Formats: sequence, structure tokens, C-alpha cells
Amino acid sequence: MVATFTKKGSSKIWALALHGGAGPMKGENYDRSEAHMAELLREGGRMLEKGCAAVDVVCEMVKELEACGLHVAGKGSAPNRDGDYELDAAVMDGETRQAGAVAALQGIRHPILAARAVMEHSPHVMLVGRGAHDFAREHKLKRVKSPENYYQPATRKQNKTGELAHGTVGAVALDADGLLGAATSTGGALNKQPGRVGDSPLVGAGLWADERVAVSCTGIGEYFIRTSAAVDVSARMKYARRSVDEAAQDTLDNISFLGGEGGMIALDCLGRLTTPFNTAGMKRGWIHANGDFKVATFG
Ligand code: ASP
Repeated sequence: MVATFTKKGSSKIWALALHGGAGPMKGENYDRSEAHMAELLREGGRMLEKGCAAVDVVCEMVKELEACGLHVAGKGSAPNRDGDYELDAAVMDGETRQAGAVAALQGIRHPILAARAVMEHSPHVMLVGRGAHDFAREHKLKRVKSPENYYQPATRKQNKTGELAHGTVGAVALDADGLLGAATSTGGALNKQPGRVGDSPLVGAGLWADERVAVSCTGIGEYFIRTSAAVDVSARMKYARRSVDEAAQDTLDNISFLGGEGGMIALDCLGRLTTPFNTAGMKRGWIHANGDFKVATFG
């Protein structure tokens, strides 16, 4: 599905899209997550209207999605097979292509802030496990002192094939200066093996931002890693001259062909947005300077 935007009214083009994972099940009620996402989009729209940078907006949006406990990320994360909560997140700035990521992070309330700290205060792109935790603590990020009390796993049933169910959050934004940013955060696949890292914190797989497009993915991460899904969208736009809609759909078709499932949100530098998925639904929404606004889970 594509929303095509034309500039009317506002002198600036900006746009924001969010997702809460491609794992919703038919028959479940998503009113709360839709209402929360609508509120967040309005807040993000106000930030962009005021001139905030895309990278600031995507981090703020993902932080709130982590805090709400309505998705499999942050507070809504589920434990791995050993009962530990290992979280992954990443952020990318399309202007500079600076990026920061954390994986298998335990005991930190907002993995996206830890990813941002890696981007801004270290010479590295990714820190994992204990090292990521210690780095986040050095930067005074809030801890989760009592995981069993803090986390409220957003439970979902396993799908028919018995494969791991999934859910993740992400944001892509185009700011009034024409710059793009992307962020993704997840508790990972439900019932995952300890140490397992999916696509979400991997730059080029679970997210990407450059001067052309910003992408955040959700789904069975192994397939998104094997197809370098997020950067593949940009490459198809650049080398195959595909539109953002065509490029994202081609990338997803490739994932479907391999047997993978999921979806993505992708926003180009002109504010054109697409949100394809090959699952029953994907929690998603967007807001645009021209007044276009939508939140949906199915259809
Ligand atoms: N992609 C995430 C992972 O594999 C899960 C998800 O998007 O729901 O860790």
C-alpha cells in the first residue's frame, strides 16, 4: 500500500511513520496500541513541524513505543528460553550515515537510547551483551532493576507452523530540512535461544537511512538478515531506479520467496511512504505535513 503525498498548505515537507511489528493475529484487539500510536504520531508531527531533526524524532518515538508495553520491545519484551530479557536496538542518521546499535542488552530500560549513545559517544557502531550494558550505565541510562516486575511480555500465540512469533517497533522520519532517520527496537523472536540476535539491530538488515530513503523492518529476522533487507530497498531505488513503493515490494517479494514473513515501513526523501507486509497485519501509522494521517493494524 502506498500513500502518495503532495505538498499543500505547509511550506515544509516532513513525514513520520511508525510500526509496532508484523505479528498481529486476527481476532485480537489492537485498539489500545492503535490509540497510543495515533497519539505518538501527533506528538512526532508536532516535533517535525517545529523543526526537530529526523534522528531525534525517531529516537523519541521508539523510546515511547518501548515504554508502552504494547509491543514486543522494551517493556513488552518476552524472556528468552533461559528466562533472561535480551533486547536489541539500532538508530541510523541518513545525513551522516552514522549509526549505533546494541544487541543482547540486559538490564537497560531503553535500548534505543543505548544505541544512540553508541552512535554519539563511541567510535563503534555496535556493542553487545555485558559491554553494551556497561557502556549504557557509564552514560547514565536508566536500569531495569527488577526484570520480573518491569517487563510485561506482550504475549502472542505461536503461529500455525510452530515458527517463532515476532513483534518489533520502528520509526522512520523525514524532517523539514529534507533529512531522513530510522530506528528499530525489539525484544526479538519469542522464546528465542539465548544469544540469538535478529535483524533489528543490524544496520542494513533491520534498518537503514541515507539521503534517499529510511527503512525499518519487522518479521522473522533471519530472512531480513539473509536478504540485507533494509539497504536492499535503497539499492533497488538507486541502481534499478525503482520507486520506494516498488523497491520495498521487490525486497519483500524476495523474502516471501525464501519463505520469510514480515514487513517494513519505508519513507523516501520526498515524503513518499510505503508499508508493505506479507503477514495477516502490521501495526503501523503515519502522519504527513500535508495532513495525511492513518493508523491501521490489518488491511
Ligand atoms: N525482526 C525481529 C527479530 O527477528 C522480530 C520482529 O520484527 O518482530 O528479532
